[in-house]
Amino acid sequence: MKVARLYSYDDIRIEDVPIPPIGPRDALLRTRACGICSGDVMPWYIEKKAPLVLGHEPAGEIIKVGAEVTSFRAGDKVFTHHHAPCFKCRYCNKGDYVQCDTWKGTRLDPGGISEYIVIPEINLENDTLNLAGNLSFEDGTLVEPTACVVKSLRRGKVRKGDIVLVIGLGVMGQLHVLLSKKYGAEKVIGVDRVRFRLQKAKELGADWVIDISQEGLIDSLRKLTGGYMPDVVIVGPNSAEAMAQGIAAAGPGGRVLLFTPAKPGEQLLITPNDLYFRDISIVTSYSCGPTDTADALALIEEGVVSAEKLVTHRFPIEQTAEAFRLTAEAGDSLKSIIVF
Ligand SMILES: [Zn+2]
Ligand SMILES: [Zn+2]
Repeated sequence: MKVARLYSYDDIRIEDVPIPPIGPRDALLRTRACGICSGDVMPWYIEKKAPLVLGHEPAGEIIKVGAEVTSFRAGDKVFTHHHAPCFKCRYCNKGDYVQCDTWKGTRLDPGGISEYIVIPEINLENDTLNLAGNLSFEDGTLVEPTACVVKSLRRGKVRKGDIVLVIGLGVMGQLHVLLSKKYGAEKVIGVDRVRFRLQKAKELGADWVIDISQEGLIDSLRKLTGGYMPDVVIVGPNSAEAMAQGIAAAGPGGRVLLFTPAKPGEQLLITPNDLYFRDISIVTSYSCGPTDTADALALIEEGVVSAEKLVTHRFPIEQTAEAFRLTAEAGDSLKSIIVF
């Protein structure tokens, strides 16, 4: 079977490897589509894992199950999550699934951009979801990214009537726009410097967009919000500079959600006096767990999120490097996926 393996940021190779064997409680997935994650194009993040088979947003068809598997069978169309928690530890009990040691230790074998994938028992039982008949495999690839945004908006406490600012309008920013509206935000403001992405945000429900290559962020926000400034600020770009901008943009009582990590060691200077008297909360949101994927699937079934709205490019596995490059470029594209 073919896999796409990353050796370094500029070195992605298509390799032929044997289909891995499955254990009595595992399943074998025939991959039909897998997204390229915008998080995977951060060089420092992906290179520390290299060499690795890229991709963690697969959807496909189960073609074989181990002798002891009763919950799934051959022919099932599924999304499967690359990490699954134990549901038993202290972190799982609090719903902090991504801190669970089992969650961190589990993975799909060999990875998402592979013609076949072994779904280990824990992933199969604790975070594999059936895709309803009307959903495409392309829709299925959106479960994981959507789940990350479900978690983000929950942690950012987006409420009815809020003004939500989304900085960065790649596919994850667009999902924040779509879901903030769905969760009752009164106004959603999108910020980027790529015209294609600004336009797309408007189509997906943003009330206003700000092109920061043309206008200053804070002045524009003051005008648009009548001086109130946003209640929730979602910071997409992975730099301390963008995070500082996000904190400055939040209105009194506001929440600032850091959706991506800055580089290891990078520091962010805050002014506690200012944060205190304006009651600003800074919250992070890392990845997602099984309750988030279940909520995400419901949103996809409802049609709030779909491949039609968000997938802009499709590539065969042989062109994984090109798909990866396109995602890294962050230009006139949103979601790129590999189709099998
Ligand atoms: Zn992802
Ligand atoms: Zn656990």
